Amino acid sequence: MPRQSIHVVGASLAGIRAVEALRRRGFDGRIVLIGAESHLPYDRPPLSKQVLAGSWDTDRIHLTKPQTLDELAIDLRLGVRATGFDLESRTLSTSDGDEVVDGLLVTTGARCRTLPGAETIGGVHVLRDLDQALTLRAELEAGPRRVVVVGAGFIGAEVAATCRARELDVTMVEALPTPLGRVLGERMGEVCAEVHRRHGVDLRTNVGVDRVEAERGRVTSVVLTDGTEIDTDLVVVGIGVVPNTEWLEGSGLTIDNGVVCDATMLAGPGVTAAGDVARWPNHRFDEVMRVEHWDNAIEQGVHAAERLLTSDAEAQPFAPVPWFWSDQYDRKIQLAGRVRPGDEVEVVTGTLEDHRFAALYGREGKLVGVLGFNRPRHVMQYKTMIENGTSFADAIAAEV
Ligand code: FAD
Ligand code: NAP
Repeated sequence: MPRQSIHVVGASLAGIRAVEALRRRGFDGRIVLIGAESHLPYDRPPLSKQVLAGSWDTDRIHLTKPQTLDELAIDLRLGVRATGFDLESRTLSTSDGDEVVDGLLVTTGARCRTLPGAETIGGVHVLRDLDQALTLRAELEAGPRRVVVVGAGFIGAEVAATCRARELDVTMVEALPTPLGRVLGERMGEVCAEVHRRHGVDLRTNVGVDRVEAERGRVTSVVLTDGTEIDTDLVVVGIGVVPNTEWLEGSGLTIDNGVVCDATMLAGPGVTAAGDVARWPNHRFDEVMRVEHWDNAIEQGVHAAERLLTSDAEAQPFAPVPWFWSDQYDRKIQLAGRVRPGDEVEVVTGTLEDHRFAALYGREGKLVGVLGFNRPRHVMQYKTMIENGTSFADAIAAEV
């Protein structure tokens, strides 16, 4: 029997693109989109960049126009939180009550990890949603002089760049040897380190945070694990995320660092998941992954929506080459593919010293990744080669 209705839980990037895909595919049943935030679906990448810098107002970050939302003819429930689900009875519990669902798509994303003991100290921030971005922006506009950024991952690196543009003194603290080392590898992470240092960031690596000191409830300094104390007016913590799966504990679905899906994004009968919350075996890389990037949320949202309309026999695996970008200062950093420690790295155009280059990653003779600093065309062309299974040697020899 065709599906009568589909509930999508999580009204952000993966959720809204899933809803659009359902209508595009001709699904004319009931669609309910449930989101814990009270805002209409909005885009997160500008939060650490243009919104935080003050160059964009929030009306530029909507993911859909109000008219498009009307045309989708959905039951949009904002400010409503899913609190539980039972696979057997198909009961979805929300802050509005219980209901029995037919199809369910989980797109509840992730939330920031916090620094233990510092959560309630004034001037200590995390950045994931619009309200947090506006609170942090207001603090930056109040004219602080110094900021400590904890974690040199994506949030840390982008916030550090935005704060330098605001001419703040920035100290960035990273437990690993380089910024973004886990995603780019150590050699390319060192290039990122150099970019930040050249822009005046005081980068401290191989060191963690011991504690945050406060007076009258407001941050005064950060004490590192090597005993160094850094006086500061503000702290921004970017130490990774936790997938929002608590509401699915005991549901009958498998939860393990995300909602565990099969290769086609099916998590259980009539249940799919997509975006930052979903973990699945990507056969292209022979790896079970959870991808925390924009492009994946869109593509996987579409795939997981279509999967709910497809029979098991017709279902296709979701096996993309993951891809992201990060804007830091005047550099657009892009990586396509998957990098692991020990991968070979070869610069194929430009130079590391100029911070404008493309580098390829190879593993077991195959091209597995491409990194570009201000080289968008190269990244997209080598991404196609990764999709085509090109050998590392052929990719290096190719004229791009
Ligand atoms: P999310 O966007 O996290 O949305 C999940 C939604 O579900 C949220 O609105 C949440 O409130 C809601 N929710 C959670 N629990 C419940 C519940 N129980 N009931 C109802 N609703 C619930 N990626 C890039 O590739 N490039 C970038 O430059 C980039 N910049 C970024 C900058 C910032 C500041 C951030 C935070 C992320 C950035 N990303 C970037 C990553 C990208 O934005 C995410 O991968 C993407 O938002 C994931 O979309 P999602 O829909 O899976 O989850
Ligand atoms: P992240 O990219 O996972 O980076 C967190 C970094 O902080 C890691 O290097 C981590 O090292 C380090 N760290 C962890 N605990 C620490 C501690 N106690 N002290 C010092 N360093 C510590 O996460 P994020 O930067 O917080 O970003 C949050 C989410 O937003 C992610 O999903 C990210 O993908 C997304 N985002 C993406 C973009 C983009 O794609 N351009 C931009 C902004 C945000 P370990 O690995 O050793 O834990």
